[in-house]
Amino acid sequence: MTIRVRFAPSPTGRLHVGNVRTALMNYLFVQKNAGTFILRIDDTDLERSTQAYEDGIKEDLAWLGMTHHETFNQSRRFDMYNEAANKLRTDGLLYACYETAEELDRQRKLLRVQSQPPIYNRAGLSLTEEQIAAYEAEGRKPHWRFKLSGGVVTWTDMVRGKQSIDTSSISDPVLIRADGSFLYTLPSVVDDIDARISHVIRGEDHVTNSGAQIEIFRALSDHLPEFAHTPLLVGKDGKGLSKRLGSLSMQELKAQGIEPQAVASLLAKIGTSDPVAAEPDMGKLIGGFDFGKIGRAPARFDEDELALINARLLHEMDYAQVKDRLGAMGVGGGEALWTLMRTNIEKLEDMAGWSTMIYAPMAGQIADEDKEFCAAAAKLLPDELNEESWQTLTGALKTETGRKGRGLFMPLRLALTGRNYGPDMGKVLLLLGREKAKKRLLGEKG
Ligand code: GLU
Repeated sequence: MTIRVRFAPSPTGRLHVGNVRTALMNYLFVQKNAGTFILRIDDTDLERSTQAYEDGIKEDLAWLGMTHHETFNQSRRFDMYNEAANKLRTDGLLYACYETAEELDRQRKLLRVQSQPPIYNRAGLSLTEEQIAAYEAEGRKPHWRFKLSGGVVTWTDMVRGKQSIDTSSISDPVLIRADGSFLYTLPSVVDDIDARISHVIRGEDHVTNSGAQIEIFRALSDHLPEFAHTPLLVGKDGKGLSKRLGSLSMQELKAQGIEPQAVASLLAKIGTSDPVAAEPDMGKLIGGFDFGKIGRAPARFDEDELALINARLLHEMDYAQVKDRLGAMGVGGGEALWTLMRTNIEKLEDMAGWSTMIYAPMAGQIADEDKEFCAAAAKLLPDELNEESWQTLTGALKTETGRKGRGLFMPLRLALTGRNYGPDMGKVLLLLGREKAKKRLLGEKG
C-alpha cells in the first residue's frame, strides 16, 4: 500500500502546539513508512484565510523540519467541489434547505425544551415546488445539506479502535452555505479522494465528522482512507488549551528561545506509552512511532517540561549547530566559549549574557570583607595562565589566608564573573586572560 497523508491547516492563524502535534503524527507516520506527505491549505473560507498566515504556516513547518512533498490550496479547486456537489444532487444526496439561522435556532430550542435531541428535521427534503418558489420570491437562497443514511457507520480507528457513529443521531451536515461557499466537510473528502490519501490522521474533535464524511466518501467513490483520531492536548492542570493557544504558537515559542526539536520531542511522546526524551533529531521519533502507543486520554502539555527538554538539547549541541545563530546574535568566543558555557544555558540567547560577562569590560563584585583576599589573589596570579592555574592559585590562597570551601571560591567567582554560579572557573580564568582577571580581582573594570 502506498502511504499518502495530508496535514490540512486553515490559514486563519499560525500553527500552535495543538495542530503541530497533528502535523507531527502525520509526518512521523509517513516518514516511517516512506510515504508522501501532503500539505493541504484549507482556505475555502476566503474571508478569514490570508496569504500571510499561509506563508507563516509554511515557515513554521520548515522551522520544525517537517518538509512536505506536495502542497495545494483548496481555494483553487472550487470546480472540483462543485462537480462533486452536482453528483450528490443528481443522486438525491444533497438537498436544498431554506431555513434562516434564526429559524434553525428556534427549532433546536424547541426540541431541547421537549427533551429531544436537536437534530435537523429534514424539512428541506419535502418542500413542494410552490414552497420553494415562495422562498425564492422572498429572496431566500438555499443552503445545501447532505442526506445521511440514518444507519450506523463503523470503522476501525488506528488510535481509538472500533468506532461507530449512528447517523440518525446527527443532523444532515450543511455542505454549502446560502452564499454558495463550501464548508470544510465536502472539499476535504473530494481532496482526500483525489489525492488518494491512505490515512486521515487528525484530532479527535473530528470523530463525528468522520461518520458523515465516510458516507460522503462512499457516495463519491470507492476510495476510503483509514482513520486515526488522536486525543486532544490539555495543559498540566488538565484544562483545554484553547484559550492559551495564541501564546503556544510556534512563532511565540521560537521568540521565547525554544528549539524546534524540543517541541517535536515533547509533542511526539506526550500521551503515548513512551517516555518523553530530548531527541536531537527526528530519527528516533520516526523509528519509535506507532499508533498503538497513543493512549485514549488527553495528552498533557507542560511548558516547564518543554523548557527542560530545550535546555537538555542545547547542553548536547555541537558548536557547528549553533555557530551561525551565535554569530547573528553577536556572540563571540567561538567554540571554546560554547563548549564551556552550553551546560549553563536554558536558551541559546543566554549565551549573550555569558559572552558579555567574559568579553565586555566589567568590574567584579567584591564585598568589603573580601577586598584584601581578592587583592591577594591578584598578586598570586601566575604570569602565564594554563589548565592548572586555577588549582595553583586557589591552593596558594588557601595556604596564605586559611580560607577554604565556599569562603575561598565564591569571592573569586563573584569578582571574576559578577555571578554566583556558572561554569568551571579554571576554564573561565583561561578565557578571561591574565590582564582582565587581575583588574577584576582588584575591583577595576577589566
Ligand atoms: N482544516 C481542518 C482542521 O484544521 C482539517 C481537518 C482534517 O484534517 O480533516 O480542522
